Amino acid sequence: MNIAKLYENKRTVYSMEVFPPKKTSALETVYNTLYGLRGIDVDYISVTYGAGGSKQQKEKTAEIASLIKKEYGIEPLSHLTCVGADKEELKAVLDNLKASGIQNILALRGDMPQDGSEKMAFSHADELVKFIKEYDPFFNVAGACYPECHPDAENLDKDIENLKKKVDAGVTHLTTQLFFDNEVFYAFREKVEKAGISVPIAAGVMPIVKQSQIERTVAMCGASIPTKFARIISKYASSPEALYQAGMSYTVDQITDLVANDVRGVHLYMMNNVEVAKYITNATQSLFASANKL
Ligand code: FAD
Repeated sequence: MNIAKLYENKRTVYSMEVFPPKKTSALETVYNTLYGLRGIDVDYISVTYGAGGSKQQKEKTAEIASLIKKEYGIEPLSHLTCVGADKEELKAVLDNLKASGIQNILALRGDMPQDGSEKMAFSHADELVKFIKEYDPFFNVAGACYPECHPDAENLDKDIENLKKKVDAGVTHLTTQLFFDNEVFYAFREKVEKAGISVPIAAGVMPIVKQSQIERTVAMCGASIPTKFARIISKYASSPEALYQAGMSYTVDQITDLVANDVRGVHLYMMNNVEVAKYITNATQSLFASANKL
């Protein structure tokens, strides 16, 4: 199924993300995650792609996406980066995805290698989007966006100018980097609309349920921490059970507010954690049902 159709037919789409295990863990770990998610009420599941990974590592993305579709009957969105690949390799990935019936791709640049050692078929995601669309119109292509500005961009206005190029190249929906402050997202959405970008934007949220996640997550994605959330973290940081509960409640509140503010999609960064995915899904299901009835 073309995910663009989902966004046409639903007011608010609910999705989540899984990632292939790191080199040191067995593929079974993500298979167990997917088994744990069976029957969950989600519109699609995206699968990340290791920009810096080996060929075998990267092949896991298509393998997992295929399992999600065939075994669990859920639509997959397969991530693909142009860092670490040349055009011939990208064509081979696309052929393999098509052979597995995977139609939806999240086209990304990937993080730039520090030492310049990686191959790079393209410098930016918009070129990858064009390449995929030209290579085979079978594919529906989505893209990423950054409410708090991509770290390489001069400023948010410039970043949105560049985002428009990606959308003009054929992207049918966008998913945001995770954020904790909904006001930041609403301001971004307004700016994006003013810039003439009208494709649906799914808001990326991630429950913080462990102390170790806090610094790592913020360092990785640069998300700002609103005062309300900072207070919660400092109050419960030394009590794992309380932090777990408070982190989940914060995300449920965030989603409640996003749906009330007519967000077109919520994308859950669930970190392959079945318990987290089930909790958040159960706690927010009626919100999505209500939004989609209107
Ligand atoms: P781009 O859209 O190319 O943007 C990168 C930078 O270049 C920005 O600063 C932008 O302003 C600028 N730019 C864009 N187009 C142009 C242009 N035409 N001319 C000049 N400047 C331009 N990484 C992975 O390795 N694997 C994953 O599976 C993965 N999944 C992700 C999913 C989501 C939802 C998000 C938000 C990020 C994900 N990432 C993933 C991280 C992503 O690869 C990095 O953030 C990367 O640095 C940027 O990728 P992009 O596709 O947004 O790049």
